[in-house]
Amino acid sequence: MRVLVDQNRCQGYGQCVFAAPAVFRFRGVESLEYDHVPDAESDRAVERAALACPVQAITLGRGAEAGAGEVR
Ligand code: SF4
Repeated sequence: MRVLVDQNRCQGYGQCVFAAPAVFRFRGVESLEYDHVPDAESDRAVERAALACPVQAITLGRGAEAGAGEVR
C-alpha cells in the first residue's frame, strides 16, 4: 500500500497518528511525517487512519504510485 498525504489539506488534527502510530508521526509541533510505503501489516491501520482524517487528506493506493487504485 502506498500512502500520500496532501500537506496543503492536512490540518494537523493527528487522527492518523492515533490510528496508525507506526506509520504517521509528528515531528515538532505540527509537521506530519509518514511512511510512504508502510509494511503490509500496517494496511488495516492505515485504512483506519485515512477514514479517520477529518479533511480527507490521506490518499491510499495499491498501484505503483499513490492514488493509483485508490481505496478510500
Ligand atoms: S488526520 Fe488528516 S489532518 Fe490530521 S494529521 Fe493526519 S492527515 Fe493531517
